[in-house]
Amino acid sequence: MKKIMEPKLEHYQYTLQQPAFCSGSGLHSGQKVRLGLYPAPAGTGITFVRTDLPDQPEIPARFDLVGSTMLATTLGRGQAQISTVEHLMAALSGMGIDNARITVDNPEIPIMDGSAWPFVEALRQAGRTRQSAPRTYLHITRPVEYEEGGKSMRVEPENSCRLTCSINFDAELIQNQRYATELNRRNFIEEIAKARTFGYVEQVEELWQHGLALGGTLDNVIAIHWNRKSVLNEGGLRYKDEFVRHKMLDIIGDAALAGAPIVGHLIADRSGHTLHQAFLKKLFASPDCWEYVTSDQIH
Ligand SMILES: [Zn+2]
Repeated sequence: MKKIMEPKLEHYQYTLQQPAFCSGSGLHSGQKVRLGLYPAPAGTGITFVRTDLPDQPEIPARFDLVGSTMLATTLGRGQAQISTVEHLMAALSGMGIDNARITVDNPEIPIMDGSAWPFVEALRQAGRTRQSAPRTYLHITRPVEYEEGGKSMRVEPENSCRLTCSINFDAELIQNQRYATELNRRNFIEEIAKARTFGYVEQVEELWQHGLALGGTLDNVIAIHWNRKSVLNEGGLRYKDEFVRHKMLDIIGDAALAGAPIVGHLIADRSGHTLHQAFLKKLFASPDCWEYVTSDQIH
C-alpha cells in the first residue's frame, strides 16, 4: 500500500493560529522572563519585541544583527539586545513557523529546561496556520565551507534539508558523537527538541563566580561530573548521545537566522555559535553558491 507522505518541502508560509505564553528564568541573569508568542503577517519572519524598554524596540531574527556569540547567540539593533535566542529559534524553525512576533520583558530568552521542548509545547498550544504566500527557500547550488582551527561547517547541494553533525570531547562520557538526520517536524520533535545544554560542572561554577549562569541549575543544564564519566543530574541523560543532539539543536537555531530554510546538506564538525555565525556570513558573501526559490522550483 502506498503511504501518503508529508511533502518534503512545504509550499506555503506558516504562522501561529493564536498567541501562546511561557515564562522561565534567564540562564545568565537568573531573572524571571515572560515570553509572548504571537501570529505575524507573511513575509515578516521572526521578530523579537523588548516590551521592557521604552518604545518597545523590535529586533528581527537575522544573522546580520548577531552581536555576541559568547556562550549564546545574542541579537542587537541600536541599544536593544536579546540574548540566548538559539533554542527558541530552533523550536520555531523545527516546527515550521515562518512568521511570529515574540514579546519578551528581559534582555534574555528564558532557558526553560535547557532544551527546545517547552517552546515546542507552547507552539503546539498556539497551533499552526497556513498563510497565502509561498515560502522562500535558500537553495544551495555549490558547496560553501568555513573552517577555523580544525572546526568547520560546510553545506553541499542537495534537494532536501539535511544536517550531519559531529562533536569531539575528551570527556569519556562524550568523546566522538555523530548524528545525521533529515530536517522535518517529526524528526525535530522526536530526535532533537528534548536535548539539553551541557557543561562541565567546574565550568558552571566558574561562570557563577563571574556572575554568569546565575539561573543555571541541574533543572536546565546537564552538568558533567568531575570524573567525566557521569552526570550530576539525578535523572541522567534523555538520550545516550544527548550532547551531539543538543549541538544539532543549536545549529538549527543559529541557521534559522539565515531568514529562509537552507535546502542542502549542512555538515558541522565541532562547531559552535561563533563558527555558525562566521559560516552564515561566508554563505551570504557567496551569492553564486545559492539561489532563492519556492518549493516547486526544486526537483
Ligand atoms: Zn544550546
